[in-house]
Amino acid sequence: MNLRRFLLLLIFKGIINIPAQAQGPDKAINQYIQTVYPGLQTLYQHLHTYPELSFQEKNTSARIAKELQEAGYAVTQKVGGYGVIGVLKNGNGPTVLIRTDLDALPIAEETGLPYASKALGKSDDGKDVPVMQACGHDVHMTVFTGIAKTLMQFKNNWKGTLVLIGQPAEERSGGAKAMLQEGLFSKFPKPDYVVAWHTNASLPAGQVGYTEGNIMANVDAVDITIRGVGGHGAVPDKAKDPIVLASQLVLALQTIVSRETSPFQPAVVTVGSIHGGTSFNVIPDEVKLQLTLRSYSDEVRNNTIASIKRMAEGLARAAGLPTDRLPQVTVRDQFTPFTYNNVDLTRRVTASFKRALGETNVQATPPSMVGEDFSFYGRTDAKIPISMLWLGTADPKKIAESKAKGTELPSLHSNKFAPLPEPTIKTGVLAMTAAVLDLFNQK
Ligand SMILES: [Zn+2]
Ligand SMILES: [Zn+2]
Repeated sequence: MNLRRFLLLLIFKGIINIPAQAQGPDKAINQYIQTVYPGLQTLYQHLHTYPELSFQEKNTSARIAKELQEAGYAVTQKVGGYGVIGVLKNGNGPTVLIRTDLDALPIAEETGLPYASKALGKSDDGKDVPVMQACGHDVHMTVFTGIAKTLMQFKNNWKGTLVLIGQPAEERSGGAKAMLQEGLFSKFPKPDYVVAWHTNASLPAGQVGYTEGNIMANVDAVDITIRGVGGHGAVPDKAKDPIVLASQLVLALQTIVSRETSPFQPAVVTVGSIHGGTSFNVIPDEVKLQLTLRSYSDEVRNNTIASIKRMAEGLARAAGLPTDRLPQVTVRDQFTPFTYNNVDLTRRVTASFKRALGETNVQATPPSMVGEDFSFYGRTDAKIPISMLWLGTADPKKIAESKAKGTELPSLHSNKFAPLPEPTIKTGVLAMTAAVLDLFNQK
């Protein structure tokens, strides 16, 4: 055996690890990605220009279904609303599921990009509202399409079953649950691993991030109706003013996190909406509040909800309201549980990322208080390991500018959030393809 063959044998047996970027299958994948990138960029701009709201993703899901069909996957549409599922059975091996979300947000885009959205969607009450891909789900879909093409192109390099899902209604939290209820894990191949990207507005494009364990929080939406007794603004003594009561409650709620929750337990109580009254000289009958609550444990979640109810009722009684006019506190049933990244799966995926992108492009990233219905995929009886990874999208020049000026970069859900398509999309395709190949090949 000559030296070259001997070295190849050692590499094949995994005795010598080839250093990252420029070698072996990662290199061939990288070259393939360069050839499909122009098409992916066109797809990205299209998805960015024509976003659709949650539960309204008709054209978006049709486009993703078409991309998967053209790539050679067996595609099923309309699973749990506008959900799309593509499957490739490619011999004996593990089943890996990759998820993208499809929906956008009711936000008027202000990025100034040549392909900015001018799209309109329908609000719940039937009004036209502006729509924007302000959470980067257009990046997710584009990268997902790139991964689909690449894993099909390299199907001789892996064995197993690939399940690709386009999930509707992430922003309103309902899509993951609906797809699971319609048999995602029973009528289609049940995955051994579930992975997804989420864009990250503060990580530079070209870098990715990972979080082991808790990554995203419990999310609750709460409606409060403060009821009073309306009357003339000049005669407050004959009324019970719900605006004063609502103001007291907003301030009292601030003490739930600061005075009632352990400093070692993350929690957020935000009053995001307050509406009451019609005129400067009329005391209204009621004021409506909308709150978002965030936490990482059942205990903090339950205590926060109990405190809100106690404070609302207690302040109303202190204001002298009769029992039949006490505030109504409703916790909506669209609860999103916290997302837990399986530690073993996350480490395996991260190791592949480091090999494909180089160590310095893979960052440990702290958990955040945003929420994701991706959590539901890990919460079925099957307890499937899931992991959501961060894909950096920020223009390094803008990061430097914001540091110099001491300003913040536009966050996710900002009307100015503008991911840098290249190298974000290429990075997402390369890193996740490498990771999924390793999962199939059990590295
Ligand atoms: Zn979002
Ligand atoms: Zn999102």
